[in-house]
Order: sequence, then C-alpha cells, then structure tokens
Amino acid sequence: MRIITRSPEDTEHIGFMLGTFLESSARIKTVLLYGDLGAGKTTLIKGVASAFGIAKRDVSSASFVMVAEHEATPPFYHIDLYRLESHEAVDAAGIWEYIDTGGIAVIEWAERIAEAPDNAIKVHITQLTDQEREIIIYGVDCEALGIQNVPLR
Ligand code: ADP
Ligand code: MG
Repeated sequence: MRIITRSPEDTEHIGFMLGTFLESSARIKTVLLYGDLGAGKTTLIKGVASAFGIAKRDVSSASFVMVAEHEATPPFYHIDLYRLESHEAVDAAGIWEYIDTGGIAVIEWAERIAEAPDNAIKVHITQLTDQEREIIIYGVDCEALGIQNVPLR
C-alpha cells in the first residue's frame, strides 16, 4: 500500500496502525525501514512503539545506540544500522539475535542488511516536500491496517 502523509503526526498514526497490526499478527514481528536521513523512519517507529505502550519520547534517533531495547510485552527492539556501513559490519553486530526471537524488531537503514529476514514488513519512506512523505508498505494492504489508500486529509 502507498500513502502520503502531510505531518509527523500523520506518519506516527500510520506507525500506530502498523503496530496494532503487528500485535495481532502471529507471523510478522519484524519491520524493515528504508529511506534517507530525515525521511521519517524514527517518526514512524514512535507510532509503532506507542501501539505497544511505549512512550513516544522514549523512542529517539540516537544513532550511536545500535539497539534500543524497550521493556514491553513482547520486548521491543529499535535497531538503527546507520553507522554500520558494510554488510559484514551488520552481520558482525549480531542483529539476528533480535529477529524472530519472540520480540518485535523495527530496523532503520535496513538496506544495510545483506539478506532481508523472512516474515518482515518492508516500509519505504521518501521525502516529497518539507512536510510530505510517501510511505510504501509492502506485504500488507490498507484493509489489514485499517487505513484508506488515499492521502490523509
Ligand atoms: P529518519 O529517522 O528517517 O532520519 P526522523 O523521523 O528522525 O527521520 O525525522 C523526520 C523529520 O521530518 C522530523 O523532524 C519530522 O518532524 C519531519 N517531518 C515533517 N513532515 C513529516 C512527515 N509527514 N512525516 C514524518 N516526518 C516529518
Ligand atoms: Mg532515524
């Protein structure tokens, strides 16, 4: 599905709907985010995290922390691969310990993973203008997320 958002709040809302979907899905527990710096990946993750009862202010783009583990049920791992520039570095960082091992894993800069994990939702975010973002979510349709396939507002 493809959607255009026109504010950070709208992007958070899409994230929240995605989080609600993950919560109810027995199979999909990983979200891979693709997009440039400032696209809105962390903003969307704030929304995903809020579906698991995590405060938005506790989700930050502290790229020097590769894995931020949030206590939630199930555990919520916010992984940021920004600083890991090679596939080898990503492999060496042990990210597979967080994927499909009972927790939710949400990964920024997923293009840095050599081979995408199975059973993951891919989200591509592109900055269109100052306030507009195109969000493409692969593998889920609007109905499953409970949102309409039209720009918000
Ligand atoms: P990334 O994690 O992809 O580097 P961030 O989520 O940290 O991006 O930053 C996105 C920036 O863009 C924030 O400052 C946010 O306020 C701003 N922004 C403006 N419009 C939007 C929008 N529609 N969706 C998401 N972020 C937006
Ligand atoms: Mg970020």
